[in-house]
Amino acid sequence: KTFKDLDLNKQLIMAVEELGYTEPTEIQEKAIPIIQAGHDVLGIAQTGTGKTAAYLLPVLMKVKYAQGQNMRALVLAPTRELVMQIHEAAVGLAKYTDLRMVALYGGLGPKTQMENLKKGVDIIIATPGRFMDLYRMGEIPVKSLQYLILDEADKMMDMGFMPQIRQILEVIPRKRKNLLFSATFQPRVERLSEEFLEAPYKIEV
Ligand code: AMP
Repeated sequence: KTFKDLDLNKQLIMAVEELGYTEPTEIQEKAIPIIQAGHDVLGIAQTGTGKTAAYLLPVLMKVKYAQGQNMRALVLAPTRELVMQIHEAAVGLAKYTDLRMVALYGGLGPKTQMENLKKGVDIIIATPGRFMDLYRMGEIPVKSLQYLILDEADKMMDMGFMPQIRQILEVIPRKRKNLLFSATFQPRVERLSEEFLEAPYKIEV
């Protein structure tokens, strides 16, 4: 299988080729068609499997461009390092699209991140705490959200982010797609997926 078999648009294929990806990884081959078909996904995959592009590519393809300040997809991740890494991957994959990415994380003042949000945003990659801080400050337009992605959900639970994640679930639109990725599959991950995924496809690599 090649990326061309995966029914991605030209802009994304160009970016993937430029990044030197010659063929999809197992998680990409399995998850991309299911996400494109509009299903919720529970993905069990470690770092290094290509899980980031497995959810970013179909999401980048599905979110509709709209003028103004409208978050269409939100990726939550446990650490500032991971947020920066996902943001970098998203910028690379979206190079030939009009989509705008903003990374939100703590450890520094919110001013630059607020300015970035004001320029307009399509996809936000954030740690849960900083996302809620900026939401409470009225800086995040949530109404157009189509996709919620939890990356390294098990680690977010380990780090005690569940209260913030629940708060986020309360303020974003109910009608949306959900993608949950976790390195491990434990009862608590299963419970989380039952709580907020709708008829998910489970993909394990
Ligand atoms: P991840 O598991 O998402 O953290 O990705 C691990 C690494 O694999 C990252 O450096 C990606 O840039 C790279 N990668 C992702 N997909 C592919 C692919 N299809 N072919 C080659 N490298 C890839």
